[in-house]
Amino acid sequence: MLTRDDLQQRDADDPLAGSRELFTGDGPDGTWDDGPQRRIYLDGNSLGRLPRATPAALARVVEQEWGRGLVGSWSHWVSQAGRVGDQLAAGVLGARPGEVLVSDSTSVNLYKLLRAGVDARPGRDVLVTTADEFPTDRYVVSGVARERGLTVREVEADIDSGLDPAVLAAALDDRVAVVVLSLVAYRSGALLDLAAVTAAAREHGALVLWDLSHAVGAVEVDLSAADLAVGCTYKHLNGGPGAPAFLYVRRELQESMRQPIQGWFGQRDQFDMGPGYVPADGVDRFAVGTPPVLATAAVEVGAGITAEAGIAAVAAKGRALTDVLVQLLDERVPQVRLASPRDARARGAHVVVEHPQAWQLTQALVDRGVVPDYRMPDRVRFGPAPLCTRFVDLGDAVDRLADVLATDAHLQYPATRSRVT
Ligand SMILES: *Cc1c(COP(=O)(O)O)cnc(C)c1O
Repeated sequence: MLTRDDLQQRDADDPLAGSRELFTGDGPDGTWDDGPQRRIYLDGNSLGRLPRATPAALARVVEQEWGRGLVGSWSHWVSQAGRVGDQLAAGVLGARPGEVLVSDSTSVNLYKLLRAGVDARPGRDVLVTTADEFPTDRYVVSGVARERGLTVREVEADIDSGLDPAVLAAALDDRVAVVVLSLVAYRSGALLDLAAVTAAAREHGALVLWDLSHAVGAVEVDLSAADLAVGCTYKHLNGGPGAPAFLYVRRELQESMRQPIQGWFGQRDQFDMGPGYVPADGVDRFAVGTPPVLATAAVEVGAGITAEAGIAAVAAKGRALTDVLVQLLDERVPQVRLASPRDARARGAHVVVEHPQAWQLTQALVDRGVVPDYRMPDRVRFGPAPLCTRFVDLGDAVDRLADVLATDAHLQYPATRSRVT
């Protein structure tokens, strides 16, 4: 049985313990309130915390670069998307310089790369994804299929254990143009083998477009084995609400790929203002319009913290935290069932539990200062951010959950869901 002393010892031994101070806490002036009533935020995989350095970095861009520099600052801003992309490539994605661009939203980047991938595989008429993929991915896949007259092969993925590689293998043949998959499943946290799945698709001449939204900043990603990827920066990378996403295109594929939105930021000689569109060389051809400079400045700070801490250390802490969380749930709340892979090597940095009153439990927890999120159909998801969460926080959060269940406090909350969960 894990005791609070055990958890405190884990915190004392944690090489990343100091990184918490790089983020704004819930106490006065953004300090950390470590008292027994404190808020315990376990939703770092939905919206990451605010880095302490971000407000000043944004103030500098606003006051100096925008306020004083005005249009002259474009000489610096114009390379920002690629510069922050390179920072992500080297620090957290295992990609080479010139392969990652920060731009648009994950949904828009999915659309751009999926269309580009389909056009790069002429004569093929099938897209593959799973029935359990994140909604925006399924919607973008079905939209592109409709636009291009393609068929979607939706393979079954277990909502707890994720996609079985053998099931995927059975759906691959030489009709498949692109396979769209999340590396870490948004609900269960199930983790796929990026290199093995990409290689299996390549054997059939198909491309895999990876969605790394729940993987980036949570697990080690080695894009040197991948062809195409997109992902969020506002979850584990702490880029802030609505922060621009990233896209990755393997260097060797870039020249042969064209994206569907022919904007002037993807044009070769942008300021020639020429009559026709000629895609830029390199990853810049996947840009569209004027980039969100302020929001990208926040991504640079947030992603910089993960890069500085080292993704191997961050991922190891994620596995340690979720292992401890699983053990605490087993020991203290047997009424809920773990609905994530038990083996830490088979999941990302979050775990989910099943309970018939999951939505009511979520509301009761939020009222008691524990912030998880509810996921359909009857799941409570806990995303302890490796850079900010302590082991004692997990013990205290599970105690509050045990207390809610023991007193049936959750039954006082409405069973009908609100709009945002
Ligand atoms: C969070 C998330 C997204 C979000 O896409 P947006 O365009 O930023 O809204 C997409 N895909 C997955 C798998 C996600 O987890």
